[in-house]
Amino acid sequence: MAISDREMAELTRLHTPQKLDPFKGVKKLPLEEYFTSGHRTCQGCESALVMKLMVKAAGPRTIVLGSTGCMYVANTTYYSTAWVVPWMHTQLGSSGSAALGAAAALRALIRKKKIKDEPINVIAFCGDGGGADMGLSAISATLTHPEYNCLILMYDNESYANTDIQLSGSTPYGAHTTFSPPGSKKRIMHHRWK
Ligand code: SF4
Repeated sequence: MAISDREMAELTRLHTPQKLDPFKGVKKLPLEEYFTSGHRTCQGCESALVMKLMVKAAGPRTIVLGSTGCMYVANTTYYSTAWVVPWMHTQLGSSGSAALGAAAALRALIRKKKIKDEPINVIAFCGDGGGADMGLSAISATLTHPEYNCLILMYDNESYANTDIQLSGSTPYGAHTTFSPPGSKKRIMHHRWK
């Protein structure tokens, strides 16, 4: 169904992206942290750093949706979380549909005047297993709806790292994973790589 000019103007009005000052230099970074202590990622985890900087750039008016993966399991241990902004877990392959649904729900709430009309970021993240493999169709469908204001961020650690380093759609050719072991054939049962 085609959207009329008036409807598109209304959708755009409801989805004006937040205008944030660009950070030029480390000294300009805000001191506020919205992803802080309380997570249990591996020491030096690059994905945790991505979360920290992603939400620092987005600011406090942000809703984060996280599909199953390292950044879900390690960041939301029972009674403990590193997230300061609202955060919700979504099913492994559904970061695209969760982002679209949350953005549509916000738009409906604003239109019905249930919440204040202000820009709110909706950011869904996924690993490469949830984004480049299982969730590709949901992300593809979300990209066909530019009228909704949402962002999907895939942190690519080149494997299903949370479940023992299995091969994902973005694992480089020749990489050593539990599903692509190098060398001669051998039984891999009862042997952990992590
Ligand atoms: S396995 Fe998960 S928690 Fe550990 S470094 Fe990799 S992405 Fe981070």
